[in-house]
Amino acid sequence: MSFNLTSNTKCRFCNEPLRFTLVDLGMSPLCESFLSFEQLNQMEPFYPLHAYVCEHCYLVQLEEYVSPENIFTEYAYFSSYADTWLKHCQAYTNLVSGRFHLGKDSFVVEVASNDGYLLQYFVQKGIPVLGIEPAKNVAKVAVEKGVPTLTEFFGRELASRLCAEGRQADLIAGNNVLAQVPDINDFVAGLKILLKPGGVITIEFPHLKNLMEQNQFDTMYHEHFSYFSFITSEKIFAAHGLTLFDVDELPTHGGSLRIYARHDEDVSKPVGERVIEMREREIAAGFADMSHYSAFGEQVKETKRKLLTFLIEARRAGKSVAGYGAPGKGNTMLNYCGIRTDFLDYTVDRNPYKHGKFLPGTHIPIFPPEKISETRPDYVLILPWNFKDEIMQQMAFIREWGGQFVVPIPELKVFP
Ligand SMILES: [Zn+2]
Repeated sequence: MSFNLTSNTKCRFCNEPLRFTLVDLGMSPLCESFLSFEQLNQMEPFYPLHAYVCEHCYLVQLEEYVSPENIFTEYAYFSSYADTWLKHCQAYTNLVSGRFHLGKDSFVVEVASNDGYLLQYFVQKGIPVLGIEPAKNVAKVAVEKGVPTLTEFFGRELASRLCAEGRQADLIAGNNVLAQVPDINDFVAGLKILLKPGGVITIEFPHLKNLMEQNQFDTMYHEHFSYFSFITSEKIFAAHGLTLFDVDELPTHGGSLRIYARHDEDVSKPVGERVIEMREREIAAGFADMSHYSAFGEQVKETKRKLLTFLIEARRAGKSVAGYGAPGKGNTMLNYCGIRTDFLDYTVDRNPYKHGKFLPGTHIPIFPPEKISETRPDYVLILPWNFKDEIMQQMAFIREWGGQFVVPIPELKVFP
């Protein structure tokens, strides 16, 4: 772990100076800033992708180089383009509405509700909902689906306003939003204000334990300011009068946690076994010990060397390589490894918003998935490795011409 003398940054949770680097991925463009053909000859902003770890609270974090207003007001990610994810959301809706007895008199709020991918399932059950989504283009899709949505950022201010209107929530859901909040204290304080006295908050986030153990460094991007272990999330919620009373481990996004929070005063929901077990497991694995964080940087460099070795050998042997997907994590990976059209001819994506555009930094063109059957590449590099099973199933036909899938994370693997 390198001791860092140049950072003047302070921890976004506990405000202590950040002195230790977890991993430095160099300079990278914003991972969702896809380029049009006309933009290819223009300057492109790159920012450091440098993750620190706080020695006091163990929050892994990036500095905020770009304001969320610049990142999230015209966001290209539409949650509804992944089937596995939608199934997950439907299962969640059934689970929580049963467990917490939600019905037509309840009120469910989702923070960062995207295109209504989740709340649509509550609407189907006749449960009143409100989405909060700052990206206008994405929120518009939600409203068209029948999911009422406010296009604002969430924090103390909005929560207080809703509370004053008598709109406190029985359930507040937040999926993959906690990482994207620059002022984490303002956000969690807002959750506390918006929650009804007997209400429940569920928050899902990628688990830092999986990120480090499974080598998922490509899930780090400028839009993700923070990376949480369970013990750190528990500290943050506790600082705002919220108790974590349950936790689920989920397979989504390479391994996530779903934490369940309630008001400290709400003793009707005792702290469960799984909370105690998770806390102990993380401490035993070293997550409360700075030395545990020190080996990660070298692990990341080795992953880069393995991927580049594979690509160099494939291209030298005259093989063609195409990408599948244009996710944020792909852009971190490709920029960090310096992979452009010299290695990857093109990539494909199911999201029509991205067709005809180019990946930021690497300028790899994005086509519809049909391009794969037209050009019959020898290898298809799967960038959203968290959907690899689904993708390999959908694209199984590449085997007709001897095509093979390649997955770079956690360890480079070729699937014949
Ligand atoms: Zn801290």
